[in-house]
Amino acid sequence: MKKTLKILVVDDDQGDRMAVRCALAEAGVQMELSEVGNGNDAFSALTTTAYDCVFLGYRLLDQDGLSLLQQLRSSEIKVPLVVLTGEGDEQIAVQLIKAGATEYLSKSRISPETLAQVLRTAIRVYWAEMQVALANQQLRESHEHLIRKNQELERQQQQIQMQNFKLLEASQLKSHFLATMSHELRTPMNAIIGFSQILLRPKFGQLTHQQADMVERIFNNGKHLLMLLNEVLDFSKLEVGRLDLKAERFDVSKVINLAVNEMRSLADAKNLSLLMQTDLQNTLVFNDPARLKQILINLLSNAIKFTESGEIWVEVKELPVNRVAIIVRDTGIGIAPRDFKRIFEAFWQVDQTITRKYPGTGLGLAIIDSLVRMMGGKIFLDSKLGSGSMFKIELPRQITLSTVAADTPAIQLDDDGVFCSAKNPHHSSFQAR
Ligand code: ADP
Repeated sequence: MKKTLKILVVDDDQGDRMAVRCALAEAGVQMELSEVGNGNDAFSALTTTAYDCVFLGYRLLDQDGLSLLQQLRSSEIKVPLVVLTGEGDEQIAVQLIKAGATEYLSKSRISPETLAQVLRTAIRVYWAEMQVALANQQLRESHEHLIRKNQELERQQQQIQMQNFKLLEASQLKSHFLATMSHELRTPMNAIIGFSQILLRPKFGQLTHQQADMVERIFNNGKHLLMLLNEVLDFSKLEVGRLDLKAERFDVSKVINLAVNEMRSLADAKNLSLLMQTDLQNTLVFNDPARLKQILINLLSNAIKFTESGEIWVEVKELPVNRVAIIVRDTGIGIAPRDFKRIFEAFWQVDQTITRKYPGTGLGLAIIDSLVRMMGGKIFLDSKLGSGSMFKIELPRQITLSTVAADTPAIQLDDDGVFCSAKNPHHSSFQAR
């Protein structure tokens, strides 16, 4: 031991204290040794000075070693402590070790070697114990910290659950409100459309040119408003899963023809050619014709809305594995790739400003995406800003409702970088134009 050790010897017998001092000196321990004969002096010495080791005799003038030891421990005084016992005091030594003494040695065995050895062991054991106690303390603290963190996390989880619940409630209320309002508004709107249509018939009296023009505007705006209301109603029904398909066998070419003819006047009004090409050996499919027509009307009205000049083509093609493809292309403003995913989200429009050029609810593609999925199909988008857009729908010839996957992610890129609705697991790649 290189450093000078501060050692305290506590014993009522001066001879015993001397024996300890001499033995340690003879063993060559470099030290500063103090001696006290009673517990009181020992206690005050230990409260004022930091000792490296204490040799404690059991019998003291004013108390015994055990009560001094207990007093030291309850005052949080920590020091390596060697108990020096008399002959036959082994029982007492055990008690002292239990009370916190580091080592014990019978006074009869005091010699320079044993004392130096005990001193070294006591200091080593004491520091090892201190380190274990420190590690334990740190473990306890980190355990408590973890418990606190856990409690905090549980509280946060509960808060999130509560907020989720509130959000769900608010969303359900919103859907309910949308469904009720659009449903309620449809009745008077139908009356407006119906009566304006009647007014336009000559058998109810001839209208002046100006009057007919105004009634026609009422009729057209009424129809537009009804279409918007229907979109909101469909969307709210889709959101709560209350929109059902009415599947039947029908001629897909006829339905496409109907939709194209319905949109022709709008295309004509903008001087756009509206072309249709059918390339099907078998035109019969089993699906929902009304919903297919709705999808086509939506795609065509977008194509017409976002095209200022050029053409709009509708193509119907046979696909392998009993599927058909319906493609709507335009030569319009096109869509930037960064917007491919978002335009299928409800209420999302590329131009989000209030002063935007093109009117609409931003619900059309979200509804189409959900409907196509319900119908067991997929929708693909390819577009180039400034050159035009292509929306392709792939539908099974025969719908099997069980194949419709409701929980797969919404839209993703296929191998060719063409955007597609991927909620249907049967996804095939598509050659971009
Ligand atoms: P809306 O047409 O009512 O705005 P949609 O959901 O049908 O809503 O379309 C969302 C957005 O996608 C449109 O606002 C437009 O920005 C873009 N979009 C859809 N179809 C086309 C198209 N054929 N050409 C260019 N942009 C389109």
